[in-house]
Amino acid sequence: MFFNVTRRFSSLLFLSFSLVSIAVSQQAVKSDTLQLNTRQQLLRYVYQELIEINTTDSVGDTTKAAEAMAVRFRAAGFPEADVRVLVHPGNNRKGNLVARFRSANPKAKPLLLLAHIDVVEARKEDWSDNLDPFKLTERDGYFYGRGTGDDKAMAAIFVANLIGYKQQNAQFDRDIILALTADEEGGDFNGAKWLIDNHRDLISAEFGINEGGGGRHRKSVKLFNGVQASEKVYQSFLLEIKNKGGHSSLPPKDNAIYQLAAGLERLSKFDFPVNLNEVTRGYFQKMSMIETGQSAADMKTIAEMANDAEAVRRLSVSPYYNALMRTTCVATKLEGGHAENALPQTARATVNCRILPQENAKDVHLKLIEVLADERIAVTFIKEPKPSPPSPLSAEIVRPIENATRSMWKTVPVVPIMGTGATDSLYFRQIGIPMYGVSGIFSDIDDNRAHGRDERLGVREFYEGQEFLDKLVKSLAGEKMTVIKK
Ligand SMILES: [Zn+2]
Repeated sequence: MFFNVTRRFSSLLFLSFSLVSIAVSQQAVKSDTLQLNTRQQLLRYVYQELIEINTTDSVGDTTKAAEAMAVRFRAAGFPEADVRVLVHPGNNRKGNLVARFRSANPKAKPLLLLAHIDVVEARKEDWSDNLDPFKLTERDGYFYGRGTGDDKAMAAIFVANLIGYKQQNAQFDRDIILALTADEEGGDFNGAKWLIDNHRDLISAEFGINEGGGGRHRKSVKLFNGVQASEKVYQSFLLEIKNKGGHSSLPPKDNAIYQLAAGLERLSKFDFPVNLNEVTRGYFQKMSMIETGQSAADMKTIAEMANDAEAVRRLSVSPYYNALMRTTCVATKLEGGHAENALPQTARATVNCRILPQENAKDVHLKLIEVLADERIAVTFIKEPKPSPPSPLSAEIVRPIENATRSMWKTVPVVPIMGTGATDSLYFRQIGIPMYGVSGIFSDIDDNRAHGRDERLGVREFYEGQEFLDKLVKSLAGEKMTVIKK
């Protein structure tokens, strides 16, 4: 119903360069291919505004983006005290927004909506012709721009929907808190962590929704709607070996570079044991019904606890399935020696591990020492581990997700996912606030452009995500009634 094809203005848009400024404003209220309703138009404005504010670590400014959203909330009638732009004292470009939609009669602790508003660096010269990463471009059914997928779509949807609830005078059983944060992608001023440490009362919630999940489709067939309920733990180790060195014309048999290389060779042949958890077992179970052929059979086998070496071997060929089944540790940096004509006095490697949430960084440390099998190689932690306990897939959470999914896409299954990377959910999980990566925004399972060139998101998928998150948030927050104010 919102998707009637209309191309009324699309040819006009490119008629004349003198029309460009008018064209941009027209383009903002309509889509090339969709007839937008009022709610979708607002979303489109918010999305464009967020994409076109550069929020990279190098030159960008999340404070500007947070302030732009604060202006919208205040204009919509949110009280001043419930719209806070909180800027990291260490860097005035690292602002965060916390907005609160109050329940008149709260019966439960708040629901948190979390989205990061910083983006990965992007250079125009790296992108395809006529695409500027910091201009929202709609073309051939996609929105192009840095952050279109990661993570400004969710941020914009949360903003537009909350403003919509205000306009409709919606009533909920709990407060809804929105946090738009800095430096998820990197940088030294992670907003999620900083808010937890400095403004805990503002973001304290019973549970929350964040990035990390989302739907996947292949050739426009929807496969599943993913819910990220846990994620692997990021932990790097430094491997270092020292030697007295000497003149390279008189080499003895012990050599720091050779010894480190031999240790790394042993590590390269080692696989951590398969260790499924509630989420990955559920994932393989569901995927065994979506995939076909040998993969489907193998997934079924390992989901049923059968530790079948052949099934594991075949599935491990896919780096993604391998990373779901076990902890991984891989060498990512290497350095050694100090002069061309000297024996190396030091050789070092960095090994980056992604540890299953149910496993322990200390055990991985001991395992690395065992596998390297050379006591001359010192293995030390780079930074403290940041554990991220899985969030329980309780019926209170799963049922509303399943209901919203069914109401939109009928038979598309909800599939639990474990993130192989880390998101800001970890900081909330650490303090006992369960977080769920769920968006209902579908993307191509074989074409992930997040962080890459020509990042994009399907137009239809974007507006469907808005509708899905609207249904889900209303259900999780306990919508009572909605009185449309005229
Ligand atoms: Zn992200």
